[in-house]
Amino acid sequence: MTTNSLALFGGPRTITTPFKRYNPIGAEEVEAAKAVIESGVLSQFIGVWSPDFYGGPKVQEFERQCEAYFGVKHAVTVNSATSGLIAAVGAIGIEPGDEVIVSPWTMCASATAILHWNAIPVFADIEPATFNLDPKSVEANITPHTRAIMAVDIFGHSADMDALMAIAAKHGLKVISDAAQAPGVFYKDKYAGTLAHVGSYSLNYHKHIHTGEGGILVTDDDGICERLQLIRNHAEAVVGGKGVAGLANMMGYNFRLGEIECAIGIEQLKKLKMFVASRQHAAERFSAGLKGLEGLRTPIVEPACTHAYYVYPMVLDIAKIGIPRARIVEALQAEGVTGLGSSYANLHLLPMYQQKIAYGSKGFPWTSDICRREVSYQRGICPVAEELNDRSYLGFAMCMHELTDEDVDLMVSAFRKVWSNLAALR
Ligand SMILES: *Cc1c(COP(=O)(O)O)cnc(C)c1O
Repeated sequence: MTTNSLALFGGPRTITTPFKRYNPIGAEEVEAAKAVIESGVLSQFIGVWSPDFYGGPKVQEFERQCEAYFGVKHAVTVNSATSGLIAAVGAIGIEPGDEVIVSPWTMCASATAILHWNAIPVFADIEPATFNLDPKSVEANITPHTRAIMAVDIFGHSADMDALMAIAAKHGLKVISDAAQAPGVFYKDKYAGTLAHVGSYSLNYHKHIHTGEGGILVTDDDGICERLQLIRNHAEAVVGGKGVAGLANMMGYNFRLGEIECAIGIEQLKKLKMFVASRQHAAERFSAGLKGLEGLRTPIVEPACTHAYYVYPMVLDIAKIGIPRARIVEALQAEGVTGLGSSYANLHLLPMYQQKIAYGSKGFPWTSDICRREVSYQRGICPVAEELNDRSYLGFAMCMHELTDEDVDLMVSAFRKVWSNLAALR
């Protein structure tokens, strides 16, 4: 055994102490939450038309700060980004049976938000550079029933918004931007999430900034904003008093975020730039260290874009390396690398889509008259996403740890050690 022998084969482990867990919550958040608790007003929403329909002081303060930060006309807080996406699909006026094109390479809620309004998710393929919707595949999936596109900024890199918005304009579609993983990153001179008709950020505890659970919706459209606020807060009980004429999708929920969460969110937003910069620093150092490893593609950042590295996405050239991904992961894990995910998601392959069973047991909405054509979720509809998921994609969960330069260097050493032992792994 030499010091370069793989830990998998009994050699010394490269990383012997676990890295520090990422925790963006500090003294400022503690103070802010304490002040709310001491005030006794933990929420101030009322689900009828009144000044309190918009929530209490911290909700409104946080929303005004989000508007200023992201440069949008309206921000609407919600109790999760999942709730937010559901509200967004309702607010853009989706009808039962309408088709909404969505990426298969995302968290499940991006697609179920569509089903919640009895609309039909249609999965378009992704492009391999950023793992986001491929505009060419989006265009190929448009039918007379298509009404919207759900663009996802996966791993913290914006989708190709110019191309997607151009397709939307050409076909009269609305676009929702699921920027849950990309708060504070740029697409040209605008923040990801702000380039679509409505955008969504997550404040759940895995994300860059969090309030435990929560979400923020952003839009420049007054009508969409009003419907988001109504769906968030018992629309059906409010429309009469508020004098809202259009009743489509005015079926409300309780998607309200509390005062404590918003007070924490106000402090978190002040730190967003710093948290994103720290992930960018670690990722750039990691990429520099991994340079030259054969068959390993480090993350691609498109020109005029920045990356928030919620996940640090790599791609293996399996033909070149000659070793299955699972074996590489096993060797890296033995060296002490944690947070590796060999697969992310191919949503169309989930049981719900494969068996087309969602509402009840009889195949609604796909088997109902509102679904105007046979939509396929068969393996093969998204070849790029499937090949990445099945074989070549390797992600590292950047938001799991607070990495020092020394930690990144240890990770680089682990990767370099595994790559110098590829022959032994074959
Ligand atoms: C986290 C996430 C969501 C859902 O966020 P919640 O706040 O947990 O509901 C939606 N889409 C993507 C891409 C996500 O990463």
